[in-house]
Amino acid sequence: MKPPPFAYRAPREVGQALADLAAAGEDGKVLAGGQSLIPLLNMRLAAPGTVVDINRVAGLDTLTAGPDGVRVGALTRQARVERSEEAAAVQPLLRQALRLVAHPVIRNRGTVVGSLVHADPAAELPAVLAVLDGSVRLASVADGERDVPAREFFTGPLEVAAGPGDLAVSAFFPALPPRTGTAFLEVSRRHGDFALAGVAAVVTMRADLGLEEARVACAGVGPVPVVVDVTAEAGAGDRAAAAHTVRERIEPEDDVHASAAYRRHLIGVLTERALAEASRRAADA
Ligand SMILES: Cc1cc2nc3c(=O)[nH]c(=O)nc-3n(C[C@H](O)[C@H](O)[C@H](O)COP(=O)(O)OP(=O)(O)OC[C@H]3O[C@@H](n4cnc5c(N)ncnc54)[C@H](O)[C@@H]3O)c2cc1C
Repeated sequence: MKPPPFAYRAPREVGQALADLAAAGEDGKVLAGGQSLIPLLNMRLAAPGTVVDINRVAGLDTLTAGPDGVRVGALTRQARVERSEEAAAVQPLLRQALRLVAHPVIRNRGTVVGSLVHADPAAELPAVLAVLDGSVRLASVADGERDVPAREFFTGPLEVAAGPGDLAVSAFFPALPPRTGTAFLEVSRRHGDFALAGVAAVVTMRADLGLEEARVACAGVGPVPVVVDVTAEAGAGDRAAAAHTVRERIEPEDDVHASAAYRRHLIGVLTERALAEASRRAADA
């Protein structure tokens, strides 16, 4: 199928992109990597009046890794972040998750920020942003620039706290504290498919290698990423209890790919394994 007709804008500067989005209002859509939007247009599941293509906008293809964390600009492709040694050194969870996102050709075009704004409940990157307590920087003519924390950004399946006229200009993934390890594990029917269930884990050890903090975020088992603090259970050395706590907190649904019960089972298994892997890495950090 072909997309329904729309007006096409290709701004060269952020200011022009914001003006184009403000003029389009409710009827406007940003086009970044197009790996989610183009299929939606072609299937006529989305019918925006105006598409604002940001691919020629100067200054949005940035990637900076510093002591505080990794900031990824709106046009930075997933593959670039995956391959960046600097980003992996500051925030290893990004690479651990990105290698599981779709296939290499899709990651060559798809953007990190686009995946966050698209907010597919089964996507990896929203869970990464959520477990790290990261944020998305939005800009619009009406409200200027502001940072929205992950816990406020994801509001429902395919829904985020970005209004008409908003451009997500970058996302920030905070650095890890010392003696911290991370892991991202998932189960999908075929490599590259969206996951049936996925778990991102972050574990911080004390200097004496006792556990200081353990958190997980689950993908594919609720409308938004589910973040659960399992410090008490993991600190007592009881990963099975941590898995039980997480299973109690999620709201998986049946669909054609898997039953809710199977997804709940997967989350328990993945939580135990991800906590074990993140703990090993924390001990080596
Ligand atoms: C076959 C296939 C398999 C896939 N498998 C996975 C997978 O396993 N895991 C996964 O996470 N993803 C998967 N994806 C999706 C892929 O990661 C997309 O690239 C990503 O979700 C969207 O990024 P994009 O840059 O292509 O955004 P686009 O498709 O351009 O846009 C997606 C949505 O976000 C909005 N948007 C994008 N950028 C901005 C911005 N800067 N400001 C405001 N709004 C914006 C658009 O308006 C649109 O609504 C898959 C895609 C395909 C085609």
